[in-house]
Amino acid sequence: VEAILKTYRQVDLVFGTHNLDALPRLLAKAMRGEKAIEVKSEQGGIVEDLPVNRSSVIKGFVNIAYGCDKFCTYCIVPYTRGKERSRLMPYILDEIRQFEQRGGKEVMLLGQNVNSWGKDLGIEDGFTKLLIAAAQTGIRRIRFDSSHPRDYSETTIDAMRDYENIMPSLHLAVQSGSDTVLQRMNRGYTIEHYKELFDTMKAKIPSMTFSTDLIVGFPQESDEEFQKTLDLVDYCRFDQVYSFIYSPREGTPAASMEDDVPRHVKEERLQELNRHINHWAYENNQNYLNRTLEVLCEGPSKKRTDVLAGYSREFKLVNFTGRNVKAGDIVQVKITGAKSFSLDGVAIE
Ligand code: SF4
Repeated sequence: VEAILKTYRQVDLVFGTHNLDALPRLLAKAMRGEKAIEVKSEQGGIVEDLPVNRSSVIKGFVNIAYGCDKFCTYCIVPYTRGKERSRLMPYILDEIRQFEQRGGKEVMLLGQNVNSWGKDLGIEDGFTKLLIAAAQTGIRRIRFDSSHPRDYSETTIDAMRDYENIMPSLHLAVQSGSDTVLQRMNRGYTIEHYKELFDTMKAKIPSMTFSTDLIVGFPQESDEEFQKTLDLVDYCRFDQVYSFIYSPREGTPAASMEDDVPRHVKEERLQELNRHINHWAYENNQNYLNRTLEVLCEGPSKKRTDVLAGYSREFKLVNFTGRNVKAGDIVQVKITGAKSFSLDGVAIE
């Protein structure tokens, strides 16, 4: 706060991520010409019933928890967002119902680590209970993000299998394919555990698609450790990967680790990783050719206004043609083309 106020003297109002509810009061103060500064860092209850302004009537985000207790060594979130705090179930369900009653079709339940929802409230296996209650609201589609492999429970997989409106796609961030790198990152699981989880999900829900996050060039990452990341990508054949070169965040433990991987090596590793990622993205999409997928239409495609776009249950972007289809419709689409990052199709009339 001091740095902001010193560098940008024209700033009248500063508030923190825990103080969103204070915005109207702070705005009024700033409009009276007073400096309005409120960045509370202490833990507090979650303020409920804040007004929601949604940019889409079709798809909506619903926060279920804030903060994170995991302290991965490269991540600043636990320091900036504080300890994990779960919202109470009735408020979450009310928000989903209200969204659905206004025509909403798909909700994304959001948290830094959704699988540990309810732990701070003393609820055992809380996320599965919440997920089932959310499914029972009758909303057409539910997704959730982010999942942490350490807290994933088999009951959650069973709920995904048993409820038609929980979508069979999962973002399960792994970050590295090497146990020793995972240890340095303080991720709290092994690759054996990750693969077991992956295999169980694939066995129970064969249509499940997976995305993940991967970091290359973490401090002291050796060629062998990087090779293990490539091996994991070839094992899991992810549908989508968000791949990054490691960059230090000031104030985190990793920022003080010796970072001895030269920049050009990090870049070569990222390119090599992306070759594997793109290969599997393309291969996986070929499996959808001539199949029919259920697509939630979001309106015209970004590139061509005469083509519609939407996402399938498996979170595949589908560009398609169809008469009398409008944003918000859930339609069956026959897949006629498959690229690495999107599918083409025709709506079945
Ligand atoms: Fe928490 Fe995710 Fe950051 Fe790890 S990477 S500390 S799980 S927010």
